[in-house]
Amino acid sequence: MAAGLTRKNITETVERHRAYFATDVTRTHAWRRQQLDALERLLVERSADIVEALRADLHKHPTESELTEIGFVLAELRLARRKLRRWMRGSRVPVPLALAPARARTVPQPLGSVLIVGPWNYPVQLLLAPLVGALAAGNTVVVKPGELAPVTSELIGRLIPEYLDEQAVAVVEGGAEVSGWLLDQPWDHIFYTGGSRVGKIVAEKAARHLTPVTLELGGKSPVFVDGTGNLKAVARRIAWAKFMNAGQTCVAPDYVLVTPDAQERLQTELIVAVRELYGEDPEQSADYGRLVSTDHYLRLTSMLRLGTVVSGGRKEVGSRYLEPTILTDVLPTSSVMTEEIFGPVLPIVSVADAAAAIAFINERDKPLALYVMSARRSVRREFLERTSSGALAFNVGAAHLSVPGLPFGGVGASGMGAYHGKRTFDVFSHQRAVLSKPLAPDTLRLVYPPYTPRKSRFVTSLLRRLS
Ligand code: NAD
Repeated sequence: MAAGLTRKNITETVERHRAYFATDVTRTHAWRRQQLDALERLLVERSADIVEALRADLHKHPTESELTEIGFVLAELRLARRKLRRWMRGSRVPVPLALAPARARTVPQPLGSVLIVGPWNYPVQLLLAPLVGALAAGNTVVVKPGELAPVTSELIGRLIPEYLDEQAVAVVEGGAEVSGWLLDQPWDHIFYTGGSRVGKIVAEKAARHLTPVTLELGGKSPVFVDGTGNLKAVARRIAWAKFMNAGQTCVAPDYVLVTPDAQERLQTELIVAVRELYGEDPEQSADYGRLVSTDHYLRLTSMLRLGTVVSGGRKEVGSRYLEPTILTDVLPTSSVMTEEIFGPVLPIVSVADAAAAIAFINERDKPLALYVMSARRSVRREFLERTSSGALAFNVGAAHLSVPGLPFGGVGASGMGAYHGKRTFDVFSHQRAVLSKPLAPDTLRLVYPPYTPRKSRFVTSLLRRLS
């Protein structure tokens, strides 16, 4: 749904979804299963089209697209399908003895009509992974792809109606204006991935309808390096996580904090690692991405003036190319250290030791991810105990989100709510509390008024003993 779209069309879509949800079709296991199967077919049968769209928008290598976009969603989808019956069943919870005999359980229910607003950087993964959970949980869904990846947005807009139940799943394409219209609707949940500026708009608009939100935001994710362990391997891990998708990854290392004794060695190894990954001239590499828009190109290239370029820095506006670039001598107050970089520029800042790095991190917003490259257990424990972030990873960057059992989400300024694996199903479900107690024997007679002194003594002593 794109051309000639109006606010009225959107209101009508939401009303149609609500009416369809009321028929109870989407609640059934059969419908949920069909939708998951259909989404799997879409991803498998049309993978070549998806790969091509991602190449056109972001110059992603087909293997990277398989790994971080299509393959990622397929893994989430297959897990959801395998576990669907179990997830739908809910779970028993113990009943306090004072209430016995009784049975208590939680039963997940679909929320109703939900909205998923996606970004452009992983335009397939970050739109369809939440969709897996929304469908598995039995909701009707409107998805809004990131408009800065227009070829992928258009493809998703074409494929979803072809494969999924059109009465329950709609794609609305467009930018800020269309997003605004969507956010004005009375949703049962809004799942937003993107920057914090828009995240605040989402939260404000949702508040008008008391709609719950999941906000998957970004921010500056630091890496700490203390020079222990194999620095060659450390540099390779940092370079891979940072320069994948030309640095346009929400969990990419944003900057490096390094101890003075390790700085030179790390810089040298990072240069070697970039060469290993993308060759002498990354512009010629089929594996290296491009910036999403000219605005982002201008924003990022202007950062090169904010420090000393140690390596990289070559650029070409026409193709929105910016070489993997390492910067030193940056001021903590300059924009490269105060704003999320979200591109292939890696500032390296010297800190005295782990304690100074922790202080530096704790003075700033809580990051989405924090990476600690250290062979010392005591250092890793310090970071675990004294910092807060959406995720903390030791000796590896950007890989935690491929573990379905780990919650993926931020804390504080990096977001609210988390998903992946069963959690995505839970995000889009209401955990209903269900209690059932037989009428006989009527044990509650013991707690009904009138509260005679004898009864009061009995109730108090019973509660003290049983609770
Ligand atoms: P963005 O905030 O510009 O856009 C995201 C979505 O918001 C798009 O669909 C867009 O149409 C919509 N939007 C834009 N302006 C709007 C407005 N005024 N009102 C309503 N909706 C509006 O984000 P982006 O630049 O596409 O993505 C980059 C940011 O997203 C970075 O901060 C990054 O860290 C973050 N991010 C986070 C995750 C995560 O999983 N936590 C993943 C990817 C990106």
